[in-house]
Amino acid sequence: MINKPRGTEDILPSDSPLWQKIEAAAREVCDTFGYREIRTPVFEDTALFQRGVGDTTDVVQKEMYTFEDKGGRSITLRPEGTASLARSFIENSLYADPQPTKLYYLISCYRYEKPQSGRLREFHQFGIECFGGTADATDAEVITLALSFFEKLGVTGLKLNVNSIGCPVCKQEYNQILREYFRQHQEKLCETCHTRLEKNPMRIIDCKSEICSAIAQDAPKMIDHLCPDCKEHLDKTLRYLDSVGVDYIIDPSIVRGLDYYTRTVFEITSDQLGAQSTVCGGGRYNGLVEELGGKPTEGIGFAIGLERLIMIMKSQGLDQEIPQSRPDIFIAAIGDDADVTAQTLVYQLRKMGCRAERDLCNRSIKAQMKYANKLNAAYSMVLGDDEITNQKAELKNMADGTSKPVSLTAEEIFQNIQ
Ligand code: ATP
Ligand code: MG
Repeated sequence: MINKPRGTEDILPSDSPLWQKIEAAAREVCDTFGYREIRTPVFEDTALFQRGVGDTTDVVQKEMYTFEDKGGRSITLRPEGTASLARSFIENSLYADPQPTKLYYLISCYRYEKPQSGRLREFHQFGIECFGGTADATDAEVITLALSFFEKLGVTGLKLNVNSIGCPVCKQEYNQILREYFRQHQEKLCETCHTRLEKNPMRIIDCKSEICSAIAQDAPKMIDHLCPDCKEHLDKTLRYLDSVGVDYIIDPSIVRGLDYYTRTVFEITSDQLGAQSTVCGGGRYNGLVEELGGKPTEGIGFAIGLERLIMIMKSQGLDQEIPQSRPDIFIAAIGDDADVTAQTLVYQLRKMGCRAERDLCNRSIKAQMKYANKLNAAYSMVLGDDEITNQKAELKNMADGTSKPVSLTAEEIFQNIQ
């Protein structure tokens, strides 16, 4: 037997209603906030992620699914959505539309990680990106969209953690201060962080190794070294959040895993997720579009891990009230003529938008009725020779056991089961 690859999951029909509910909530919230869906390829040129995610990140250094295709190109399965969206924004000249360009996506992502609870190799994200929004209010719009989505689903107990990691100017000065700090602990840092120390010391703060993160605890904080413009941007963002009554925690330790972030970064966490507590990560990435060959363009967005969201929803019992689809009517049949009539009626009823079902396993009549019960059909009907001759049958209400005669036309059946 061939099993699914390590770190992947089948989403079974019993879970589909929950996924569909989440996807519908995402689409509705995005619609009210004016974000439109974009779909980009599952795989991209490897260079896109090396440049767009950053080659000092865990994602690029350790986690990418990269292979050579038959044409000798280096291809990577997308580990995230933002770089692809920025590429598409440039390639399709979306910047020529009235700005900002507000996009959302519902995608699968691929990262070669050690599979564990809340950490898969194939997982799903709902995310948004706003390109070209220059006003300070953009950050608050993006954050409140994420919160509105969780609220719509009834998810509670989440924490919003906000930080600013500055702009290239203040970041550079801060990196120097940080480098000096980490140099004092250089021998203890992991191998990856040795390279990070010179190239991008801020990455060390995000390192998953216990020793590195313990050292990072006491490292100088970016938030204490922001330039006046970045400080003002952060203050304004917080003021907008205050104005709509959003609770947040300022968490100087958030630097986010990806290289392209500037200024606002945020995470939404839940204590129902164990070690993988972050359900949503986002922030501003003013340098990204330019890095990928476009004109300097402001950008901000977030991504929500749907498997982690589902873990939270299940632990809060939010998967319970979702109705599973059930047939409106089950038409059972004995004999060839009845069987053909059952087939015709089911077909016609389905065309009318009615969930009509019949047996497809050559069951006995008794077994057909048992099956109708299992399917939780609202109504049922048995067709035999007499019913075909008289063109009439008993329509049974499965909930209260009552029945009434109806003629064998889809219209009459349809009217009587509404
Ligand atoms: P983590 O610190 O948990 O590795 P990350 O910073 O790598 O997260 P992002 O790149 O910001 O994650 O992705 C956004 C969201 O996608 C995360 O907050 C999480 O909910 C989800 N996510 C990321 N990696 C995985 C994974 N391997 N399996 C399941 N969900 C994931
Ligand atoms: Mg990660």
